[in-house]
Amino acid sequence: MAGLFETDVAIIGAGPVGLFTIFECGMLKMQCHVIDSLEMVGGQCTALYPEKPIYDIPGFPKILAADLIDNLKEQAAPFNPTYHLNQQVSAIQKSPDNRWLITTSQETKIKAKAIIIAAGVGAFGPNRPPLENIEHYEGHSVFYYVKKREDFRDQNIVIAGGGDSAVDWAISLSEIAKRVYVIHRRPKFRAAPESVARLEELVAKQKIEMVIPYQLEGLEGVDKNLHTVIVKTLDGAIKKIEADCLLPFFGLAMNLGPIAEWGLNLERHHILVNPSTTETSTPGIYAVGDIAIYPKKLKLILSGFAEAAQAAHAAREIVFPGEALHFEYSTTHGVPGHK
Ligand SMILES: Cc1cc2nc3c(=O)[nH]c(=O)nc-3n(C[C@H](O)[C@H](O)[C@H](O)COP(=O)(O)OP(=O)(O)OC[C@H]3O[C@@H](n4cnc5c(N)ncnc54)[C@H](O)[C@@H]3O)c2cc1C
Repeated sequence: MAGLFETDVAIIGAGPVGLFTIFECGMLKMQCHVIDSLEMVGGQCTALYPEKPIYDIPGFPKILAADLIDNLKEQAAPFNPTYHLNQQVSAIQKSPDNRWLITTSQETKIKAKAIIIAAGVGAFGPNRPPLENIEHYEGHSVFYYVKKREDFRDQNIVIAGGGDSAVDWAISLSEIAKRVYVIHRRPKFRAAPESVARLEELVAKQKIEMVIPYQLEGLEGVDKNLHTVIVKTLDGAIKKIEADCLLPFFGLAMNLGPIAEWGLNLERHHILVNPSTTETSTPGIYAVGDIAIYPKKLKLILSGFAEAAQAAHAAREIVFPGEALHFEYSTTHGVPGHK
């Protein structure tokens, strides 16, 4: 959605904390535009562990990460946020009328009175294996994330990697797949010991087949549909595996990206903030969630939620200068569309 937009607050990052920031801003009558480099909202919850239960969200003894994101999106919806997905914020400048001007990788421009950065661990994307033509199959038969487990029912699935994601998804998908192969270059896995024990049980029951010590070598298919994954040992021995899809789990490349160039005070790849306001070293720019750091910071979703409330209250003073706040609980104030 290229073009020029104007808003009260621009939120960079639509992870759980960015989504809750929309709600907190909305309760203070501030309109938000939200930008994320991923094609979907939810940040780490959606991209890394949608089907894992989270146990430390207040009021939810157990909630799947994907369900938490659905709830946060629903909670934000009455305030009509505008989402700009699949685009990274590349630059932040001051415009002549003293607003912030944000530019994204898709040339979307957003003018805002305040900015709240909820950028987590920075823009992240999967580490891609260096296979010829892999981009050809991506999104059709090569996937770096599992968005919906059911999509893989009755398939021949090749999983590559030796960490938690590879092991956890091999276990989970073995319940519904036709066949699951795990390619790893060595017999030792870098995953939770209970999960590795479970993986070994499933191998013994022939629900999962280990392909060790092999590495990915090539892909064969017709159009965008894969039919064979080629793997190779260090000695050059080749094996061909019949496959409907490949899930390479080689971790995420994370970097602050352009954020490092915005002149904010940083500490070990995080943005240093005043914890009582979440203000960064630049007035009018706030940071919340995993990206924000201050002494004794707890990198948890619940800390990010509280920071979102702090940031919204601080940003309000810039969005509505001189307007005193008559503080109200949500029980008194209500939310549009809810009685
Ligand atoms: C496997 C796993 C399990 C976890 N379990 C728990 C748990 O049980 N409890 C708990 O509290 N926490 C848990 N966490 C941590 C939790 O997920 C994070 O604390 C939380 O996601 C932080 O939310 P956030 O919104 O700050 O950032 P993120 O979720 O990281 O979202 C940030 C978003 O910002 C976007 N972004 C970054 N830079 C830019 C840019 N320049 N332009 C546009 N977009 C940008 C990114 O694409 C991303 O979508 C877990 C994490 C993992 C990996």
